[in-house]
Amino acid sequence: MVSHPRLFLSPPHMSGREQEYIAQAFESNYIAPLGPMVERFEQSIRDLTLSPNALALSSATAAIHLALRVLGVGEGDIVLASSFTFIGSISPILYQNATPFFIDSDTKSWNLDPLLLEEAIQKAPKKPKALILTHLYGQCADLDKIIALCDAHGIALIEDAAESLGATYNAKQSGTFGTFGVFSFNGNKILTTSGGGMLVSPHKELIERARFYSTQARDDAPHYEHTDYGYNYRMSNILAAIGVAQMEVLAKRIEKRRMIFEWYRNGLTGIEEIAFMPELPDARGNRWLSTLTFEHTDPNAIRLLLETHNIESRPLWKPMHLQPLFNSALSIQNTTSETLFQKGLCLPSGTQMEYNDVEKVCSLIRKALL
Ligand SMILES: *Cc1c(COP(=O)(O)O)cnc(C)c1O
Repeated sequence: MVSHPRLFLSPPHMSGREQEYIAQAFESNYIAPLGPMVERFEQSIRDLTLSPNALALSSATAAIHLALRVLGVGEGDIVLASSFTFIGSISPILYQNATPFFIDSDTKSWNLDPLLLEEAIQKAPKKPKALILTHLYGQCADLDKIIALCDAHGIALIEDAAESLGATYNAKQSGTFGTFGVFSFNGNKILTTSGGGMLVSPHKELIERARFYSTQARDDAPHYEHTDYGYNYRMSNILAAIGVAQMEVLAKRIEKRRMIFEWYRNGLTGIEEIAFMPELPDARGNRWLSTLTFEHTDPNAIRLLLETHNIESRPLWKPMHLQPLFNSALSIQNTTSETLFQKGLCLPSGTQMEYNDVEKVCSLIRKALL
C-alpha cells in the first residue's frame, strides 16, 4: 500500500525567505528579544492595515489581555464577547477577574449577531466596558451595526482578528475598526511566526501604554523602578524575522485560500445537505479555513472517514456558552452557534494543497453521502 503524507488542516507555509531574515538577525546579534526585525514586522502590519500603531507580542491571547488591561477592565466589570470563538479570545477576561457575557451568532456571517448584542446591552446587570468581537474563520462580523451599538453605549470595541488577517469589510482591513485590533501568528493561522501576536490601535497613547505593560512596566530610570506591574509579552526579534518574510506573501496566501474554498464549493455542488460558510456582501474574507455544514449527516462520521485516509479535519469551535468552564456564565443565545457546532466541519485548507488534494477530499465526502 502506498502511504500518503498526512493532509493537515492548516500547516505552516514558509515563503522561502525566512531563514535569510533570521540569518540577518543572527549577524546583527539581535538574538535578544527586541531588535530591528520587530520594528520591520510592525511596519509591515502598519503598511497592510493602515493602522498607525502596531505592537508585536508573544501571542494574540497576550494582545487581548493587554487591551483589557489598558482599557482598565478589572474585577466585576462586564465584557461582552462572541460566544462562537476560540478560548484564547476569552481567557484574558478571566485573567482580569472580569465577567464575560457571551453573545450568539447570526446565520449570515456566523459571527456575533447585532440584534442579540443590543439585547445583551439592555439586559446586562451593569454597563459593559468592552466587547471582544471575533471575526471567525477569516470573515468579518456585521461591523456597521455592531460599531453603531458600541458607539451609542460607550463600549470599547476589541476586534479579535486572530483568524482574519488581510480580510476586509467595506474595503477596510479587519482589526482597524475598534479601539484595539488583534492578530495571531500561531502555527496554524494564515501566516505564522511559530507563535506570536500583534496589537493595533488608532490611539498612539494606548499602544504606548500596552508597550509599557508588555515589558514588565518598567519606569524611566537607570535601575529597575516599578510603580505598576506588567508582563513579559514582547515578541522576539528572531520570530519577527519569520514574520517579515511571511508578510511578503500574505496576498498570495489569501488568493490561494480563497481558491481552495472555491475548489471545495465546486467539488461539492449539487449536494443539497451541504452549505458553506456564507460571506457578507460588503466583506471579503481570507477564507482561513474552508468550513461547511451537513444538514443530515453526522460531521463526526465524515471526520473519522477522512482520518482513515490520513486527512485532518476538525469540528467548528464549540461555543463558549456550552463550555463546562462557563456553565453559569452570562449569555444570550439563539441556537445558531450550537447548530453550527453540531453540523459543521473545517476541511483541510493549507495553502500548499493542490487541486488533486481538494478533489480527493470532495470525492470521499461525495461517496460517504451517496
Ligand atoms: C488563534 C486564536 C486566538 C489566539 O491566538 P494565539 O496567538 O494563539 O494566542 C484567539 N482568538 C481566535 C479567534 C483564534 O483563532
